[in-house]
Amino acid sequence: MNGDCASFSCTVLDALPEQIAVLDGDGFIVAVNDAWRQCGMEHVRAGTGVGANYLEVCRRADGAGAEHAAQAAAGITAVLTGSRKQFQMEYPCHTSSRKRWFSMTVSPLAHGRRGVVVVHVEITERHEAESRLRIAATAFESSEGMMVTDSRGMILKVNQAFTRITGYPPEETIGRTPAMLRSGRHDPAFYKAMWQIISRDDSWEGEIWNRRKNGEIYPEHLSIAAVRDEQGEITHYVGALTDITLSKAANDEIRNLAFYDPLTRLPNRRMLLERLRQVLAASNLHDNYGALVFIDLDNFKTLNDTLGHNVGDLLLQQVGARLQACIRQGDTVARLGGDEFVVLLERMSNDPLEAAAQTETLGAKILEELNRPYLLGVHPCHSTPSLGATLFHQGKPSHPDELLMQADIAMYQAKQAGRNGMRFFDQQMQDAINAHVRMEEALRKAVELRQFELYYQVQVDQHGYPSGAEALIRWIQSDGNCISPANFIPLAEESGLILQIGDWLLETACAQLRRWQSRPATAHLVLAINISAAQLHQSDFCERVQQQIRNFGIDPGKLKLELTEGILLKNIEETISKMQLLKQFGLKFSLDDFGTGYSSLQYLKRLPLSQLKIDQSFVRDLVSNNNGQAIVSTIIAMAHSLQLDVIAEGVETHEQRSLLGKLGCHRYQGYLYGKPLPASQFQQILELCDA
Ligand code: C2E
Ligand code: CA
Ligand code: CA
Repeated sequence: MNGDCASFSCTVLDALPEQIAVLDGDGFIVAVNDAWRQCGMEHVRAGTGVGANYLEVCRRADGAGAEHAAQAAAGITAVLTGSRKQFQMEYPCHTSSRKRWFSMTVSPLAHGRRGVVVVHVEITERHEAESRLRIAATAFESSEGMMVTDSRGMILKVNQAFTRITGYPPEETIGRTPAMLRSGRHDPAFYKAMWQIISRDDSWEGEIWNRRKNGEIYPEHLSIAAVRDEQGEITHYVGALTDITLSKAANDEIRNLAFYDPLTRLPNRRMLLERLRQVLAASNLHDNYGALVFIDLDNFKTLNDTLGHNVGDLLLQQVGARLQACIRQGDTVARLGGDEFVVLLERMSNDPLEAAAQTETLGAKILEELNRPYLLGVHPCHSTPSLGATLFHQGKPSHPDELLMQADIAMYQAKQAGRNGMRFFDQQMQDAINAHVRMEEALRKAVELRQFELYYQVQVDQHGYPSGAEALIRWIQSDGNCISPANFIPLAEESGLILQIGDWLLETACAQLRRWQSRPATAHLVLAINISAAQLHQSDFCERVQQQIRNFGIDPGKLKLELTEGILLKNIEETISKMQLLKQFGLKFSLDDFGTGYSSLQYLKRLPLSQLKIDQSFVRDLVSNNNGQAIVSTIIAMAHSLQLDVIAEGVETHEQRSLLGKLGCHRYQGYLYGKPLPASQFQQILELCDA
């Protein structure tokens, strides 16, 4: 090597960024380049100038780098002794401000000379890039399925989880588009909307049905993110997907419990109402009619009670299946509970009559299907349903609960009409029911507020002299409106409110008798009160009556109870014993509306009555009609043979009065003598008569 050449190579070496040193066969440094020199002056390799023994320096090193230095010394020795051709290692060389990495390469000198060339190179940048890649790769291989596409959606890379979820290995995926996973469960509009969101937000997240390689369709949670370059152009899309089959199945199970009837697997009431709400809400899209058909099995309870619940359950399941077979796709069969089913028909004709006919046809089909014999385990069985239908216009807002109630009412009508048939809901009937409900509420309130008054209608003897009165109730509403008992007593009886009203009546009547007893003009009057069946059949009825009489200290002989034949026919033995007990106590009984019932002489004989009251309908017919006279004279003859007093009610004319007198009836009540009056007016009139 000549001098020029040596200085040229020194210049070249000095220009290199690698730190280079030449060691002789014993490890002494014989030459270094600039980069080595600078680095050596800077820090750790201090004391590594020409003439120093590099092996020694490495072996003596302590602190953080000691281990790597020892490794370096061993490597250099190995190359020096020829046991290795070359040695390479990487090592950290951190300063307080920076993390740096270097690599050291030891190569033997050329041409068989003893000695080595040691080259240190900083590899910090490469090292960091590699670790970034390692992190990215680890992250990419997560439990989520990952896929990277280019900006046109071509798949560039997928991870192992992707393959596990979809069944497609990378080689069958790369170069294709994610459309390969489409299940067919979403329409093009779905994907269009998804891509619109991605282009607006750079991301999308949601649940999607995809198809695995084996054809299985599964639900996945998918999130897609767009990756943009420094110029803001989209370069890639990254998709992360998780298979949610299991959590979906769990959700579905919960949903099943909430929305389906476990026995028949049909939608339950909640689901039906939900569906109905949707149909009504979507109504502006259609102009069609829909229908609800309420189905209730006749005599289901009997079957359940005689053959047991298991057999009953079998019937319900078979009925559910038959109903489902009757309907079109898109219509709904639901089980509300018990033996009640509902069919929801959608999108029928836009003509109400046609829609009704369609419903009728379906009803007939259901009737026929459900009438076919059943085999429940070993039990052959026959069952019939009653159906109630209501139509609704999909364009008009209506309330689901209300529609259901309408169908229910119609079904009830079908039951009333003899079962195993179908009825349509009709608005007039609904109005009547509504009025009934409102009236009952008002009556309940009236009982609370005691909005009642007793009117008194005089009863006279053959001389026209007042011998008593009948107490007739009036409901005086808060606006002063007076309601006839004919309009509310039946409702009071039906609702049970008659018991409270009866108590009030008894007390008021006794209080009135007390007042009458204290005045000469009225002291002799007998007061008749009307008693309803429910009152008389109260177990403590007799005690109640006796108690009130004692409370007011009145003469029991002045109280007369008016009963109708209908009341007496029920529980006849019990009624007789109650009447006997009260008769012994001193009370009197009158048989009201006599002649309108079925009383036989035979049973009238057994009743401890004191009076028969000829019904006003006979009195009305008396003058005009010969037959009327015949009836009235028979009643009077009957009364006489039973040694009962007889009174005619509804006497309005002198003619009626005189005919009745001729036929042998000598007591009268009616407008001819006086209309029912409030207590004060009644009292005034009697005192006038007396004067
Ligand atoms: P009722 O017991 O047969 O009472 C007779 C009805 O005939 C009364 O009607 C009375 O106002 C009416 N009346 C009396 N004289 C004449 C007449 O000359 N011509 C005509 N056209 N009608 C006459 P009201 O007060 O409307 O009572 C109707 C029904 O309500 C009663 O029939 C009775 O069944 C029931 N009722 C009335 N008050 C009570 C009560 O306090 N308790 C019970 N349980 N029922 C009562
Ligand atoms: Ca009466
Ligand atoms: Ca009557």
